[in-house]
Amino acid sequence: MDIASRHSGWVDLHVHSTASDGSLSPLKIIERAKEIGLRAVAITDHDTIEGSAEALGYPPLPSLEILSGIEISAHVPSGTMHILGYLLRLDDSSLRQTLKRVQEARANRNIKIVERLQELGVPIQYDELTAVSGGGQIGRPHIAQVLVHKGAARSVDEAFRRFLRKGGAAYVSRYRLLPGEAIQMILRAGGVPVLSHPFTLDVKDEGDLEGLLVDLKGAGLKGMEVYYPEHGRERTTQYERLARRHGLVMTGGTDFHGEAKPRVEMGIGRGDLRIPYQLVEKLKEATA
Ligand code: AMP
Ligand code: FE
Ligand code: FE
Ligand code: ZN
Repeated sequence: MDIASRHSGWVDLHVHSTASDGSLSPLKIIERAKEIGLRAVAITDHDTIEGSAEALGYPPLPSLEILSGIEISAHVPSGTMHILGYLLRLDDSSLRQTLKRVQEARANRNIKIVERLQELGVPIQYDELTAVSGGGQIGRPHIAQVLVHKGAARSVDEAFRRFLRKGGAAYVSRYRLLPGEAIQMILRAGGVPVLSHPFTLDVKDEGDLEGLLVDLKGAGLKGMEVYYPEHGRERTTQYERLARRHGLVMTGGTDFHGEAKPRVEMGIGRGDLRIPYQLVEKLKEATA
């Protein structure tokens, strides 16, 4: 069986491009997705639709469906909350306006992180970030890369641990949309809001997680990312159960970032992820 037919019927609904912190351009992502025989792919960059829009601008392929997508970082008191948006209208003016505000806040934060690093004695210049980001949105992974090149950290992981993680020596917070605002922005653009990788919320107790899901659903959430490389069997089963109980559509994706996250491959994650096309059909029903 060749690679293409082995993958037929599988999808990847969580992929980052050079428009944010991924290392492949939208064109390269489409080529890779086609090569491995995916049936559908969504580029879901952090706080920008540019990568998704570029992918949708190419001539349609008979074998590969491209869904519009985005991943928004939401403000929460602890842990990390990301909200995915699918099948949204990328030309929605209110969406574009809100994203502009978020992108400005991100750019200002990046300047402050560079200043913090300089104060800590790291010889880093803002221009070096634009050089590694390739013109897209700059994120902490780019800053981490520069720190590694300079020898200020031995690995991206160490750069996060020492400097960039929440609580790290050069951590600077930034303005983020509230969860409800992110959800409403996606809904207004005709999209389906989905809670990304729920384990990063860092909510250990199932009852607490369930309470949070009920609140988010009240705010308009329609889905939950159940299939994800870090979830493992136990979490996956738990999330399937919670999604069913609360009428949330289930999605899945690898969070592929290319070289920026070398152990995660498009379509298969760490090797064993298989996300069926059927989930795309459910997503489409959720737009109604
Ligand atoms: P930002 O959006 O600029 O705040 O950066 C957040 C991104 O950094 C996340 O989406 C991840 O891709 C990446 N990230 C967060 N923590 C780590 C880590 N410990 N190691 C590598 N990448 C990370
Ligand atoms: Fe990322
Ligand atoms: Fe995420
Ligand atoms: Zn992601």
